[in-house]
Amino acid sequence: MERVIKSYTLHNFKSIPQISHLKDELIRDIEIVGRVLPFKTNNYVIDELIDWHNVDTDPMFTLNFPRHDMLKKKHYDIVEKLLDENADKQVIEQRIKKIRLSLNPNPAGQEHNVPYLGEIKLKGIQHKYPETILFFPSQGQTCHAYCTFCFRWPQFSGMNELKFAMKETDLLLRYLTIHKEVSDILFTGGDPMVMSAEILAMYIRPLLSDKFKHIHSIRIGTKSLSYWPYRFLSDADSDAIISLFEEVNAAGKNLSIQAHFNHPVELSTIAVQHAIKRIRATGAQIRTQSPILNHINDKPELWSQLWRKQVDLGCIPYYMFVPRNTGAKRYFELPLEKCWDIYRKAYRRVSGICRTVRGPSMSDVAGKIQVLGIQKVKGEKIFVLRFLQGRNPLWVDIPFFAKYDDRATWFNQLKPAFGEEKFFFENQKYEIATAKNELLLE
Ligand SMILES: *Cc1c(COP(=O)(O)O)cnc(C)c1O
Ligand code: SF4
Repeated sequence: MERVIKSYTLHNFKSIPQISHLKDELIRDIEIVGRVLPFKTNNYVIDELIDWHNVDTDPMFTLNFPRHDMLKKKHYDIVEKLLDENADKQVIEQRIKKIRLSLNPNPAGQEHNVPYLGEIKLKGIQHKYPETILFFPSQGQTCHAYCTFCFRWPQFSGMNELKFAMKETDLLLRYLTIHKEVSDILFTGGDPMVMSAEILAMYIRPLLSDKFKHIHSIRIGTKSLSYWPYRFLSDADSDAIISLFEEVNAAGKNLSIQAHFNHPVELSTIAVQHAIKRIRATGAQIRTQSPILNHINDKPELWSQLWRKQVDLGCIPYYMFVPRNTGAKRYFELPLEKCWDIYRKAYRRVSGICRTVRGPSMSDVAGKIQVLGIQKVKGEKIFVLRFLQGRNPLWVDIPFFAKYDDRATWFNQLKPAFGEEKFFFENQKYEIATAKNELLLE
């Protein structure tokens, strides 16, 4: 079953056969909103995931095509007017840039995580938690299809050069040689699985040598199982990818694919099931994660189905995230209380085998903060929270409390409970963990 990827963006989406049957308003919304929120999709998503009979509510359509309500009315009207007036191209572009900037394209805190090697700033690395570095290979900074809730596109570049990979590998390896506290490297993007097997191997193979015994886990964060499972089946270098995975496992390392699935439909096709089997047969594990999103997976039964199905297929449910404050967040966000309610109702429907999942979790500047629940203590209604990961590892697992707020959708909107002025960690929040590891771990 061979498939060749065909991508669609704002510039050619009208050539998708199914699009011609849509209502005019929907097409117009894509044209207007798509100016501000870039989108990209492909023939697999179109032919096998989207339910074209229910486009008004179909979650796969919503994840792949911009919709009217993803923009504020004010912004929508501005773009619509400019297009109707056939305004000057430069004027349109400037206005769109302004709207994009107002949508918080670079959500807070990531700049704190970029480490140094001597004088060199390592832009392709983030090191926030001592044991794990994130690595952003420059050839992996694009995706098979873009998710409408994601605003990583400002960083997308998508160059596919060996020369660059060599230079980056060199810096990465030098950094890891010094940082023996790092046990995990997480390749991320964009989507590292857009890289060729050859480039991926250039990054991964050196890590298998004796010099890097301290690296136990190689992880790859990817949406490819959902949006292009043929990456592992019938692309020209699919077999080379599979051999590389086997090589990692043969070297005694844990290879973990951090797969991003938003909805049970993404697990329903023969292609994805076949791809999961093939990856699992290499000895690699697949852990799953997803943001919790209004209009997409805002029902407990969708999550319990998702986790149940993942376990059936040999995957390990890992994280439920609260989406960051960026892009079309206004369309996708849910109050923290609702996120917790959905999590809890889904969690209690599944057996312990599926309860490896943790959430709802917010990746804030200070760390990954889980909403453990809502309680009432001596008459005060509170959120009970804890760090799943902290910029300072000593914070992890200590429960702490915030005032209940029925509208809060992110940690920065919460205030400490019981009249406290600050959360217990707030004074140390912006210090970089890596520079201080030894001190912090004492
Ligand atoms: C989530 C995350 C990690 C990985 O954390 P795990 O809990 O080990 O999966 C590493 N670095 C950053 C910046 C993260 O947000
Ligand atoms: S695959 Fe990941 S990085 Fe790419 S658009 Fe989707 S959420 Fe963003």
